[in-house]
Amino acid sequence: MKSGDVMEKPRIAFFGLGTMGGGMARRLLGAGYALTVFNRNRAKAEPLAKEGAVIADSPRLAAAGADILIAMLADDGASGSIWMGENGAFAGAKAGAICIDCSTLTAHFALMLAAAAKTRGLHFMDAPVTGTKPHAANGELTFIVGGEAADLEAARPVLAVMSKEIIHLGPVGSGAALKLINNFFCGVQAAALGEALSLLDRAGLNAAKALPLLLNGAPGSPLVKTLAARHAAGDYTPNFQLRLMAKDLAYAVEMANGYGLKLRTGHVAFDLFKEAANAGLGDEDLSAIIKHLK
Ligand code: NAP
Repeated sequence: MKSGDVMEKPRIAFFGLGTMGGGMARRLLGAGYALTVFNRNRAKAEPLAKEGAVIADSPRLAAAGADILIAMLADDGASGSIWMGENGAFAGAKAGAICIDCSTLTAHFALMLAAAAKTRGLHFMDAPVTGTKPHAANGELTFIVGGEAADLEAARPVLAVMSKEIIHLGPVGSGAALKLINNFFCGVQAAALGEALSLLDRAGLNAAKALPLLLNGAPGSPLVKTLAARHAAGDYTPNFQLRLMAKDLAYAVEMANGYGLKLRTGHVAFDLFKEAANAGLGDEDLSAIIKHLK
């Protein structure tokens, strides 16, 4: 396709059917898009096949014939293993296809992918998301897009099915960079909440009276409210796995280092999340950081 064209019902290949990708892919199927999917662990793709998706045996095979390719994978390593290599999606994609990585990646990795895509005549955008499992399932994500405006316009109807908002931030890598700043900020808040609740306990204060003051007052951000509610319910089933926050904090610290900036609160939050993951809480929800710190 010619960059900037708006496609009629493009064919879509989707890679990564985890907590987020499963819901996103289902939105696309629900909107009537022809969808081919690949997931490393095939069992996660089977339910989507029952809903009309075609399962491919490799990223390369999934990519063949697709106009738009979308990935939602754990990290840089996972993303590389899907896009790159002889069985990777870039190798199978047709010239002119638009490749969109929605995973939370480092900006330098997104730039490397964009360069690799370009050598094959492919378009690439990083489009990480804010929102979590229910937002993915309900088409209420926010995409933070780095890439060419014409590519975004061509892909916009597809992204719109999965989102409530699409922000075109700037060139490739800018979406990834802002997403890491966003999650650095979230990780620090989550760790501070865990320590605040520990201190509240330790001081023997009346939690029923003290908590509403904290949660409805200045420190009560939407994130803090959500995590406190999940902790109060003792429900740590993952919307966002704790180990992914450890990964995002590590990436944010590394990004800052690259600019000669030491993210001191980021370092501390990373240590706490790493400690919690090492204590066996990595697959639980991010809110389990509170349980760990208490
Ligand atoms: P998830 O449930 O852990 O899913 C990760 C996906 O990556 C799975 O499809 C997994 O395949 C695949 N994967 C992992 N390692 C791989 C490898 N080495 N090779 C190939 N595939 C691999 O994670 P998620 O919550 O959906 O998050 C996906 C991305 O979105 C992450 O970058 C995360 O930071 C970001 N994100 C998450 C949320 C959230 O609330 N959950 C919100 C915003 C952004 P298998 O099934 O085979 O393991």
